[in-house]
Formats: sequence, structure tokens, C-alpha cells
Amino acid sequence: MPVTTTKIENARFLLTVDDRRRIIRDASILIEGDTIAAVGKAVDLADRGADRLIDAREMVVIPGMTNGHMHVSYAHAVRGIFPDDVEDRLAYVFQMQSAMTAEEEHDTTLLGLVELLKGGTTCFVDPGSTRFLDAALPAYEAAGCRVMTGEHVTDLDNALNLPIYDTDEALRRTAQSIQKVQGLLNGRVRGWAMPFSLQVCSPDLLQGALRIARDADTLLTLHHFGGLLGSAAEDLPTARLHELDLLGDRTVLSHVMNLADEEVDLIASSGTKAVMCPSTVLKGGGGIAQGGRLPELLAAGVDVALGTDSVNSSNYLDMVRTMNLAAVVYKDSRQDPSQISAETALELATIRGARALGIDDLVGSIEVGKRADVVLFDTRRAEWRALTDPVRNLVYSATADSVDTVLVDGQVVVQGGRPTFTDEWRLIQTVEAHGTRIRERTGVGWETAWPIE
Ligand SMILES: [Zn+2]
Repeated sequence: MPVTTTKIENARFLLTVDDRRRIIRDASILIEGDTIAAVGKAVDLADRGADRLIDAREMVVIPGMTNGHMHVSYAHAVRGIFPDDVEDRLAYVFQMQSAMTAEEEHDTTLLGLVELLKGGTTCFVDPGSTRFLDAALPAYEAAGCRVMTGEHVTDLDNALNLPIYDTDEALRRTAQSIQKVQGLLNGRVRGWAMPFSLQVCSPDLLQGALRIARDADTLLTLHHFGGLLGSAAEDLPTARLHELDLLGDRTVLSHVMNLADEEVDLIASSGTKAVMCPSTVLKGGGGIAQGGRLPELLAAGVDVALGTDSVNSSNYLDMVRTMNLAAVVYKDSRQDPSQISAETALELATIRGARALGIDDLVGSIEVGKRADVVLFDTRRAEWRALTDPVRNLVYSATADSVDTVLVDGQVVVQGGRPTFTDEWRLIQTVEAHGTRIRERTGVGWETAWPIE
């Protein structure tokens, strides 16, 4: 069967994020099947036809964005349920999540994917909280997204309502979850080892999980909650991970807050990757000004991805707003506007984020030979104009709301701002009904602060 060709034509600006960081004005992209076949000035590609033409006039085109930490599977059913000052939030999270049926998890996941893709995020890491992977896979298939998934495991007592297994069982489940998904859907699904955190996993589990990741030639992620600022060196969690031989280029640490200088050095010298979730830290009062060391991590050469956490953590999946936060919070907290430029923020959401997740050979930039994960922003909107510098306007002025078209592996998954793979409004109604039942089943819920009559 001949491959389908697609041409994105006459883009106002194309941000390639390639090695030279070229921005091409009046650009076109030719896609053959799932792969980018040509990138250049529209005039130079004018004689190249295609089965499908996408008119990109007045559009700014960027590589699909990556979200390095995003629990997809439950939150849309009960979004906004938590009061700002709720205590033990994670315990309620995992209580509700473990009360979901496979069907509820499928539908809620699919709505999460709608929000991600509509916002131009084509690839994300679900850090293991999906309970029914068999039910989630059809949602990934329908949506056409790129995903790293697995099963989060613990083997130590915890107050988080996470299932606790004995160590061997936790390792067996880790290996099995990787095996189940690795390479599915044209390679868009990858299985990772996902022990939950240093605090709730034994050294044997953590080391065994990394061994499994290595044997399967894949990565490992865990929640990395930093120590208290000013902790003694031997109490630093990153030092403990180093001692256990858990750092290295297969390890992706999520959150990485409150790092001491020596922890930044350990992460950098070992080639460990990191994910930061600025919107979650800010909403949770996590102290990004004191404890967020993004500028130091980047200066040390660490590959960092941005994440949003779940829609009951941050509470949104908008990577454009997330780039904006990454770019502005350090300017303020360090009282230095040269911190984290708009260009750096875009790198974190694209090529550098893809490097952190081990997929920069496939995605993260718009270059010949890479998979065609591409996002078109419609700039015929007040917040995008005047349009002289597309990077600054994207990071400082736009939101993901102006995403018009999204392709993953050359397939159009969002067109005219709407998902092509599901009836969004019908899905919303289904998921809201699931949420009502989950709240009834678990008894989790709070009155609104203001009375609803
Ligand atoms: Zn998490």
C-alpha cells in the first residue's frame, strides 16, 4: 500500500528547534506516512504535491510538546474537587483512583488525552497510576498520542493508599507492565519502570526496577521529593539514590524540588534526567522561589522536561502556560530577567524535554527523518499580534487555546481546535457521570466555599 503524504503549506513561521534553532518564515513541511520528508521555504517545496494539504497561512508551527509527568487516568472525573487547603491530598487521590472501574478509567483517560492533544502536547509520561492498562491502551490508540506508561509500585507501608506488594511481586508487576506495552501502536507506547518514590520503596525494589529497565532497554521514573532545605549531606535524598546506585541516564526524577548544590552536581555528573512541574509547585505552595533549582540544573547541563502533574494538582495540562511559568518565576524569584529565556522554555517543552525522556531521536524538533509530531497555532487572534517574534509571543502571550491543528505520527488528531477521534461533549458528559458515581462510592467530597443554591 502506498504511504499517505501530507503537506503543511505556507506557515507564517516554522520553529524547527533543530540544532541551529532555525525559524523559517513562509515554510512548508512534507510528511510521508509517519515521517517528516522535507522542511523548507514554501517556495522551494512548491512543486511537491501530497494526498492531503493543510493550509498553514498565519499559523505558527512548532514540534509537538512533551509533558514529562502527568497522571492521566482519574482526575478529569473529579476535577476541582479539592479545597485549596486540603490535607493529605494524595491519599484521597489514590483512594478515588483505586475505586475506578476499567470503563471509567478508559473514558477519563480519553478525556485527559483530549485536553493534552488540543493543547499541542503530543507525548506524555503517565507515572504509573493507570490501574487498568488494558483499558487505557484503546484510549491511547484512539487518540493517537505518544505515551510512556507502566505500573507504579511500592513495597513499604505508606499513608498514600497506594497498593503495597511484597518486593518480588512489585518487581514481577514492573517487568510485566513493561512487556505488555513496549513498542505498541507503531512504537508510540513505551513501558518504563515506575517505583513510586524513595520513601515508599525498599532499596531492593528500586535496584531491581532499574535492573529491569536496563534489561528491557528502557527508563525508570520515580517521584523525587527533595529533602528539607539545609539538611545534612547524608540526609539528602539524591545522595541516598546515588549511594544505592540508582542515578544515571536511565533514571528520570520527577519534581526535583529543594535540591542542595551537591544534589544538582550528582544529578548532572551521573547523567540523570529530571522533570519539573512548576504549576503544581506554585499551586501547592511548594516554594519554587527557594527550592526550584531549574536554572542550576540547566546550567549544569541536565536534560529537564516540564510536566503538569494531574488536573487535580496543577490543575491544568496547558504546556504553553507551563512554559510561561518556567520562564517567568525565576525572573522574579532571582530578581533577574535574564533567567530562563522564552527560547529555553520552548526547548524544555520540545527538544530538551524529549532528550530527558529518551526520545529525541524520534521527536522534539521538526527535521527530516523525525516522526511528524507537529502543532499549528492559529495566530489570527488578538493575543498573538503584533507578530514579530513567534517564540516570545508563544511563551509570553499565547495559551494552548490557540492550537488549531495537531498531528502525531503524521495523523491529524486535532483539527480546527477539535479532536478528530471522539465526540468531546458526549465524552465530557459520560466522564462527569462517572465522577458522580466515584464520589458516591468513596464518600470523598467537600462543600464549595461559596454556597451553591
Ligand atoms: Zn506524580
